[in-house]
Amino acid sequence: MYPPRSAYLHIPFCHRRCFYCDFAVVPLGDKASGESGPGSNSIKSYLKLLFQEIDLIQDCYPLTTIYIGGGTPSLLTPSQINSLLNHLKNKFGFQDGSEITLEIDPASFTQNDLLAFLDAGINRISLGGQSFNDLVLKALGRRHRKDQLIEACSWLKKLFKEGELKSWSLDLIQNLPGHDLISWELDLKEAMRYLPPHISIYDLSIEPGTVFEWKQKRGELILPQEELALEMNRLTSSILSKSGLARYEISNYALPGHASRHNRVYWSGAGWWAFGMGATSAPWGERFARPRTRDKYFQWIMEQEINGLEPSLLSKNSKVFNFDDQLIVGLRRREGVNLETLAERWGWDQNQSDAYLQSLKLRWQKLINNDLLKHNGDRFFLSDPEGIELSNQILIEMLIWWDSLPASAVQPPNL
Ligand code: SF4
Repeated sequence: MYPPRSAYLHIPFCHRRCFYCDFAVVPLGDKASGESGPGSNSIKSYLKLLFQEIDLIQDCYPLTTIYIGGGTPSLLTPSQINSLLNHLKNKFGFQDGSEITLEIDPASFTQNDLLAFLDAGINRISLGGQSFNDLVLKALGRRHRKDQLIEACSWLKKLFKEGELKSWSLDLIQNLPGHDLISWELDLKEAMRYLPPHISIYDLSIEPGTVFEWKQKRGELILPQEELALEMNRLTSSILSKSGLARYEISNYALPGHASRHNRVYWSGAGWWAFGMGATSAPWGERFARPRTRDKYFQWIMEQEINGLEPSLLSKNSKVFNFDDQLIVGLRRREGVNLETLAERWGWDQNQSDAYLQSLKLRWQKLINNDLLKHNGDRFFLSDPEGIELSNQILIEMLIWWDSLPASAVQPPNL
């Protein structure tokens, strides 16, 4: 396994919890800010913990992608972002040309903050816009409104055009309550006015414990029907492709050269570091999720310092990523998967590989006949949009196949 070259840093603070969100977040109130406003002490003490966690790592190699996500990382001041990056750099080193992304939310930073974030070393911004429709934003429980999103998009467009910012991405959510084809088309067309070189379009999912789940149980949440959701999905592909944004993963579209290098790591079978409350790392092939509350995260750091590092964070415990996981994440990408390469990494010999993969290919044949799955040379990939829309059906076929294999075939290989 190659050494990990990517790091995710989780900043859990938000002004408030949005109605659909089940992330590990700490709401600080609408007036929170990182310097001296409400919640600033919480931010400062959390950053100390984050530094402590970074210091625990032993096998460090220079990083090529760094992603500061959350939460709302733009609640931190530029100087806090600067010291976080410096701390990480002193520990790991950054390779020349590293991609350094900061997630920001409209109305949580000024234009001067944005410039100072770039001065601190950020070269890619991911803006959590979600919708240009005030009624939708209100229904989502978001703090920002359309005007603030437009202002943020205009700043980013200008900085990108002037070459100050290497790349940026806009997040939108589709299939929201109140969405119809007309309102979704307006959202997409408004987004295209700012020409983001990367756009992520997420489907709303209703998570346990959220306000949306509570509303849904009471019959108060009306979501678009399946047929309408499919039409919106097709509209998305068509409008974005006309602007040159190609779908390179189920939820992500980019202009050439602007696909997120950091996200590609998650889908490619390479390892990554992660730091912070609730963050999931997999530096050496095994996933590990940190505690999702501040107290438990604090306690976990103390235990690491006293008892030694969690085993999955040590290179001597290197593993190959699970075959079935690799197949699932690989099929999310436009380039799909090479089954033979996965089998080889998993340690199957030629006879095993021929026999087991043949049975998967037989299962998949009907999906290929129905144009849901494509087969080109060594690679299998989902058709767009039909295969992507029915990706669950394809994944279920794959999981049934995996469960049908002998125990010896699904055992992780010895490294
Ligand atoms: S801003 Fe993002 S992370 Fe924070 S509560 Fe809303 S959806 Fe969750």
